[in-house]
Amino acid sequence: SPADLKQTGPCTWDIPRSFRNDMRATARLFADQPMLDHLFGERALEQLVNMTTLPGVQEPALAMPDIHQGYGFPIGGVAAIRADEGVISPGGVGYDINCGVRLLASEVSHGEIRDRLPALATQIQRDVPTGVGRAGRITLDEHAMDLVLNTGLRWAIGAGHGDEADAEVVEERGCLAAANANTVPDRAKKRGADQLGTLGAGNHFLELQRVERIYDQECGRAFGLFEGQVTVLIHTGSRGLGHQTCTEYVRRMDVTMANYGITLPDRELSCAPFHSPEGQDYFHAMAAAANFAWCNRQVITHEVRDAWKRVLGSNQPLAIVYDVSHNIAKLEEHRGVPCIVHRKGATRAFGPGHPELPERYRTTGQPVFIPGSMGTASYVLAGTETAMRESFGSACHGAGRELSRHKAKKTISYDQLRASLRLAGIEVRAGSARGLIEEAPEAYKAVDEVVDVTAQIGIARKVARLRPIAIIKG
Ligand code: 5GP
Ligand code: MN
Ligand code: MN
Repeated sequence: SPADLKQTGPCTWDIPRSFRNDMRATARLFADQPMLDHLFGERALEQLVNMTTLPGVQEPALAMPDIHQGYGFPIGGVAAIRADEGVISPGGVGYDINCGVRLLASEVSHGEIRDRLPALATQIQRDVPTGVGRAGRITLDEHAMDLVLNTGLRWAIGAGHGDEADAEVVEERGCLAAANANTVPDRAKKRGADQLGTLGAGNHFLELQRVERIYDQECGRAFGLFEGQVTVLIHTGSRGLGHQTCTEYVRRMDVTMANYGITLPDRELSCAPFHSPEGQDYFHAMAAAANFAWCNRQVITHEVRDAWKRVLGSNQPLAIVYDVSHNIAKLEEHRGVPCIVHRKGATRAFGPGHPELPERYRTTGQPVFIPGSMGTASYVLAGTETAMRESFGSACHGAGRELSRHKAKKTISYDQLRASLRLAGIEVRAGSARGLIEEAPEAYKAVDEVVDVTAQIGIARKVARLRPIAIIKG
């Protein structure tokens, strides 16, 4: 319970190893006092403690201020686990492997396109398939699927869905070298075969925004942002392909875990030593599913660019600011130790000077995107050196849920939600009423507070605040 948390900094709370005898590291939560009373999901803190029982976990296991209950790991959880003698856990990545957000920057301001906004939203909704099982325009045969999985964005660019400049501003250039299509389950490939370029349903969205405020002029310039500008935020992941991959590896590891003498407080944490056959297979499959997700966001980007051209009638460029993953496990070195950094509903937030960052972000730190909700602000932040020291180069990934989907449906009125969005001047194109209610602003924590805590800890700094002007959802 929150009573077991010891405050060790203005926004830092620790549960020491002495709390439970199966803990192998401190459990650390970044939050302010009021947030502690709003922890959604009675199991979120317990899940944070459970993370610390994984063999090889490095000090400390972390939860970001957007923490809420997830599968195995809490959403907002970050665990760095020694690659040599530690484990990898599919539940520490999540079912939507490489779910993430990509921000596009236009060269127009809101005022210039205000009258064409409804047409633009309608066109994008028409061109980007949304909804649970909706098929896309592309069908991948076995050979093409293997190329997508093994080469990621290189496939997308080769197939004409973008160009080299795009790859420059995607984490890992949109291709994890560890990917091996042979380790991705057949059923996963089947589920993904017609899903490239589709948004999905539920929490996934495509949003047009206006830059309401730039906090850091120099950094804003480096990111290509200016006040009044129209931006596009794309949130989706690896669709059914990633989900099926996670499902099958959770099941496999659940069976093999005992062979390695691993016992855990929660089966949902099922894992395997990183260097075991199961651990390696999962790592290669996860990387392949991540490549699929990058292609997915790239194909959607291409569709949005086409819609943009069709409606605005000119060659208006839409440049990718950056593309960040928030459900992934990465091999990284921290404090001299090679680690599998599990980011589950957490964003990489590498600081200035990191060699993995593209040249143009070397001095600023990497862009970090924090979506809020369809009715509130979203934020652009930049990674910091503090993040490299304190959070294994990580920050939060959103506002985080405050109400379960079930509770949202019970308490929020669809008509009122539509009316308040209309009043705020937000164009809504939604596939289902239920989906919209489950994602209502009231279902999420206050993003401003989450971002303030993140900035106060110093693991990312504020660059810009964005406001929704049109929202497309499944
Ligand atoms: P997740 O990846 O955990 O599903 O979602 C990431 C974050 O996106 C959530 O924590 C929430 O703050 C935010 N979010 C959910 N729906 C919307 C939306 O329609 N627009 C924006 N800008 N953010 C959203
Ligand atoms: Mn997702
Ligand atoms: Mn996501």
